[in-house]
Amino acid sequence: MSNYESPWMNEDLRMYRKALREFIEEEFVPRQARWRAEHRPSAQDWKQAGATGLLLPDVPEEYGGGGGNFAHQAVVTEELGRAGVNFGCGVQSIVSHYIAHYGNEEQKKKWLPAMAQGELVGAIAMTEPSAGSDLQAIKTSARREGNEYVISGSKTFITNGGLANLICVAAKTNPNVAPFRGISMIVVETQNLKGYRVGKSLEKIGMHEIDTCELFFDDVRVPAGNLLGKSEGAGFAQMMDQLRYERLMIGVGAIATIERALAITIKYAKERKAFGQTLLEFQNARFKLAQCKTEAQIGRVFVDNCILRMIDGKLDPVTAAMAKYWLTECQCRIVDECVQLHGGYGYMTEYPIAQMWMDSRVQRIYAGSNEILVELIGSSL
Ligand SMILES: Cc1cc2nc3c(=O)[nH]c(=O)nc-3n(C[C@H](O)[C@H](O)[C@H](O)COP(=O)(O)OP(=O)(O)OC[C@H]3O[C@@H](n4cnc5c(N)ncnc54)[C@H](O)[C@@H]3O)c2cc1C
Repeated sequence: MSNYESPWMNEDLRMYRKALREFIEEEFVPRQARWRAEHRPSAQDWKQAGATGLLLPDVPEEYGGGGGNFAHQAVVTEELGRAGVNFGCGVQSIVSHYIAHYGNEEQKKKWLPAMAQGELVGAIAMTEPSAGSDLQAIKTSARREGNEYVISGSKTFITNGGLANLICVAAKTNPNVAPFRGISMIVVETQNLKGYRVGKSLEKIGMHEIDTCELFFDDVRVPAGNLLGKSEGAGFAQMMDQLRYERLMIGVGAIATIERALAITIKYAKERKAFGQTLLEFQNARFKLAQCKTEAQIGRVFVDNCILRMIDGKLDPVTAAMAKYWLTECQCRIVDECVQLHGGYGYMTEYPIAQMWMDSRVQRIYAGSNEILVELIGSSL
């Protein structure tokens, strides 16, 4: 779709895209090797991202955000995907949305501007060693004692965990009611916090630039005022609602990766020769790429439709699940085809397509595994 432009694009977004593209190319792409070696960007990288307007693009300006809508977030996600850069700002946006939607005025003023500047790095801590898909089974507890909550438990696979100093924790505030009514989201400010500990960065197949950690809460005390929402027990409903945003963002990242993988591979297939002709002259390569390109085009139109609906506040959870499920399945299938078309070079980590193959796999697992999403879609039939 060489002349296709997303229907939500406008002049403001075009300028935003251009500025981000330059910044990411000049500043973040060269730092990838360091981030991979250190498992994470530095605190300074986060502040620079904030100063450039990469963080909280769709949070109102009065709270320090960019004042945009989901289209601005989509531009950030697409530009990072286009450059092949992994940076945990998607999680930063997710955390900011919990605060923006369920936080009171004091909480929003306290945390959002610092998040937009990259001074506070956010993480969302739902998953536990014995509860991932089955979120209602979490064991981390938050016991009210006077004006504080006392949090105990552990979380695992937490993105940004190492550097995060503002963690949105899912905890059971009432173990005596149905789980979906007994979970609350509580914001934990981790600096100098007694009883809080971060495990080492977990070794992953891909996404080495972003850290993924275990977090331990040993009778950690936080002010009762850090509860998100007017009363306890709203956490499960809040998570289910916010997962729409997270799932569409993952769908947007998937299509950006698909488009990049195809651009790289079509170029490669035009250059690489075997048996005296280019790869693209082999009918098999041409057909494979034609099929992938067709799926990419279908995916792009679908994701754009979802983005428009999200901007209008009308994206339902089932369609968001479809976007995450279908686009990430396409991503893994197409990136794998592209690796195959690169031959042995596709297996070498210095080739971007190999990196994309390693990074893609997790997309089908997190934010609701694709099996859980198919269940969710199925339950709506
Ligand atoms: C790199 C990475 C980053 C992550 N970041 C975060 C984060 O920032 N915050 C956070 O809270 N979590 C995070 N996660 C956790 C992620 O969301 C969970 O791993 C995911 O939800 C699956 O949970 P699980 O690992 O416990 O697998 P399980 O729930 O044990 O599932 C194992 C398998 O069983 C299948 N399965 C489970 N239940 C059903 C069912 N009812 N029907 C059919 N199949 C089923 C699953 O689809 C999966 O294939 C991250 C994970 C990874 C790998």
